[in-house]
Formats: sequence, structure tokens, C-alpha cells
Amino acid sequence: MSKILLIGDSSVGKTSLLLKYADNEFIEGMPLSSGLAQKNKSLIINNSIINLSIWDIAGTEQYKSMTQLFFKNGQGALLVYDKTNSETFNCLSFWLNELYLHIGSDKPVVIIANKIDKTEDFQVTTEQGQDFANSNNCKFFEVSAKTGDGINEAFYSLASQLNKNI
Ligand code: GDP
Ligand code: MG
Repeated sequence: MSKILLIGDSSVGKTSLLLKYADNEFIEGMPLSSGLAQKNKSLIINNSIINLSIWDIAGTEQYKSMTQLFFKNGQGALLVYDKTNSETFNCLSFWLNELYLHIGSDKPVVIIANKIDKTEDFQVTTEQGQDFANSNNCKFFEVSAKTGDGINEAFYSLASQLNKNI
């Protein structure tokens, strides 16, 4: 079982991404949750089964400090921002630092721009996202937890990078 982490600012859609990926559900105007959420999901890469334990940091992210429990044994992460909120994009460096401090800078991180269904409201361009990812050696995906676009690809990318580390 590989533990992977969902991190990023509050309201970017971390919990929504987890629900969509693991349960194929989307809740409009999801109530703010608190505590840790965790779900398992398996996928097949090159004929081998990868079991993911996906941890969602819920509620505590606004304090910009997190529990040891959340990061403990993390093997990689999906770092999420909201494409319709540039503030959440500006916080990516903070989160990447937190991650590398706690799980080590050798771990794969995938950068995710969420909410691409809200086409009228974009504040961050695809190029800005891609540039940030490139300069930090991360893969980059634009997704929607609402429509499901891009989500499987993003998780698959992270899982296949974990695979290489085994
Ligand atoms: P979290 O705080 O990062 O876990 O964010 P949530 O998953 O609670 O989502 C915050 C709000 O954004 C909720 O009202 C969600 O319904 C909404 N949301 C999340 N992802 C998307 C998306 O891809 N598209 C749209 N339109 N809304 C989204
Ligand atoms: Mg949440």
C-alpha cells in the first residue's frame, strides 16, 4: 500500500477530487469538513496492481501547519490549486516546501489545477501552471472534480512514478 497525500489551500477541491476519484461522486457546495479523510483505490500499471491509500488534509490546512500523522510515510503527493483563484496558485511554493520538509524532496509530486469547468472565471493560465511544475520537476494536470476531466490521468501519473521507486 502506498500512502499519497492531497494538499493545497482550503477550498481548492481536495476532498472533491478524492470523492470523485474513489467514489465517482461530486457534491456541489460541499460542506467544510474537518479532520483527516482517507480512501483506498487500486489501479493497474504495467500488469501490476498498485494500492493507493489517499490522505486528504481536511480543515487543518488553513492553519498552515499539519500533524505528523498526515505526512508520516507519505510516498508522494498531489498538490492542488484552484484555477479560478490566483491566491491558491501563489501558495504552491509554501506547500511544496512543507511537503519536502516532511516527506523528503525525492518523492514525486504532481501539480493539479482544479475547477477547469469554470471557464469564465480563470485567474491562472495553463502556461503559468505548467511553468511552475516544470521548474520544480513535477508533472502537471488540469482537472475538474465536477466533470471528472483529467483526474484519472493525474492519479495514474503519480502512481506510475511511485512504481519506479519500488
Ligand atoms: P477542499 O477544501 O480543498 O477540500 O475543497 P472542497 O472539495 O471542499 O471544495 C470546495 C468547493 O469547491 C466545494 O463547494 C466544491 O463543490 C467546489 N468544487 C470542488 N471542485 C470543483 C470543480 O472541479 N468544479 C467546480 N465547479 N466546483 C468545484
Ligand atoms: Mg476538504
